[in-house]
Amino acid sequence: MQRWTIGVDFGGTNVKVGLVADSGRVVRSQVLSSKVFGRPGPFVEGIGRAVTALTQAGGIRISQLRGIGVGAPGAIDCVHGIVLATTNVPGWHRVPLARLLERRLGRPCVVDNDANLATLGEWRFGAGRGSRVLVGLTLGTGVGGGLVCNGRLFRGVSGSAGEIGHMVIHPGGRRCGCGARGCLEAEVGTAAILSMGRRAIRRGAEPLKTLARSAHGNLTPAIIAQAARAGDTAARQIWVQIGQWLGLALASLVNVLNPDRIVIGGGIANAWPLFSPALNHTLDAHAMGIPKRAVRVLRARLGDHAGVLGAAAIVRQELG
Ligand SMILES: [Zn+2]
Repeated sequence: MQRWTIGVDFGGTNVKVGLVADSGRVVRSQVLSSKVFGRPGPFVEGIGRAVTALTQAGGIRISQLRGIGVGAPGAIDCVHGIVLATTNVPGWHRVPLARLLERRLGRPCVVDNDANLATLGEWRFGAGRGSRVLVGLTLGTGVGGGLVCNGRLFRGVSGSAGEIGHMVIHPGGRRCGCGARGCLEAEVGTAAILSMGRRAIRRGAEPLKTLARSAHGNLTPAIIAQAARAGDTAARQIWVQIGQWLGLALASLVNVLNPDRIVIGGGIANAWPLFSPALNHTLDAHAMGIPKRAVRVLRARLGDHAGVLGAAAIVRQELG
């Protein structure tokens, strides 16, 4: 029997709500603004209305839903469905989100960290299908991580496992949002890439300087990637550096976890051809022989739907 799940991807800019079939197809979706719906009260009401609209348009009843999965950025008590604190979205502190949504919609709800769910989504529907030990990495403003072992998220004793973005790879390096220095996130997150880009521009890198000027000085990782593809040596070097930091982090993960697959997604992964040769080279130089031969590093496949599909996948895992 075909069943449906609601997946909610709660991001800093918007909230995506998707009606997902068991096959992994996003049947319908809606996007709400985090500016309007980013606080607990409006969020629950906005999700409630979106679920009603999506199920009606899909010709199904809310009672036919397996449940609702929510991926949120930050610290989550996934056992009780409580958002302890969010990163990049203010106003959330110890919010019992699962209970509030269950009360609003009358269906069970599961809440988890967004990077964990993106990894679980890739395992069930994307580039991680069939993997036994999967490491997932999401590259963007932050660097999220997740671990799926034998089809289940590995959470650790307090539920915080998988914070790959806070592996220290560069002692004394850039300051991280967590308070430490030299975390992977501090070295390869968007802020680090832009800082390297601005430095290259000050040194006269071309065509990076011209491209940034034509974007009214609004430098983005995509512009740095464009400059690198156009032959800018300094811009190319930035992506080589990113690949090297990633390769170092992944080599340690490979040695510790012996995974069969590593899947890398998020907006920064669009620069894959620019950083993956350095990543592979560094991984090859630092990982041990036996685990190195067992692992493949792949680009994530779910793209913009990763959050919604991951949130649907956790409902399947927790509620069957
Ligand atoms: Zn950190």
